[in-house]
Amino acid sequence: MKIFCIGRNYADHAKEMKNDLPTEPVIFMKPKNAVLLPGKPFYYPEFTKDLHYECELVVRISKNGKFIAEKFAHKYYDEYTIGIDFTARDVQREQQKKGLPWEIAKAFDGSAVVGEFQPITEETNLLDLEFNLNKNGIAVQEGKTSDMIFAVDKLIAHVSKYFTLNIGDLLFTGTPAGVGPVVPDDLLEGFLQHKKVFEVVIK
Ligand code: MG
Repeated sequence: MKIFCIGRNYADHAKEMKNDLPTEPVIFMKPKNAVLLPGKPFYYPEFTKDLHYECELVVRISKNGKFIAEKFAHKYYDEYTIGIDFTARDVQREQQKKGLPWEIAKAFDGSAVVGEFQPITEETNLLDLEFNLNKNGIAVQEGKTSDMIFAVDKLIAHVSKYFTLNIGDLLFTGTPAGVGPVVPDDLLEGFLQHKKVFEVVIK
């Protein structure tokens, strides 16, 4: 199982990070050990002093494929949820400054929170979903998938140019504005279309 992640897919987030808007999707990956198992606490890593949440729409790949055309991309996923792309922001900035890969800032154990999956039905419109992340009961991120720079089908087409997609792989689609730090004892709750799909306690 592989986890594909997209960076800078919302203009307002790219702006808050002082990044230029991408002309094609920015891809990075996390290993399967990055998945935080449901109900498990998240332990604040010892190598960072600035751990950030990034709440994102996640889709699950349901069919193997490579070089998938955008118009057929919808046949390659069947479930969606939201999750968190945990990021050691201080480590990421250091790596970026040196022009080095950022896996140690984003792909560590437990860095991928995945909510409860929802089936994609005829009524589901991935282009028009709302999600939000609450920290200690207060909304800190509010996302609309209609604000994505590259929609899910475009992302699938792009990622599959480079990597074979396999059943069970996950695609994190980028975070909207409002990313910020957590500290031990914080409670993060993710809501997709106002339905709670995950909660994580920081230890
Ligand atoms: Mg992210």
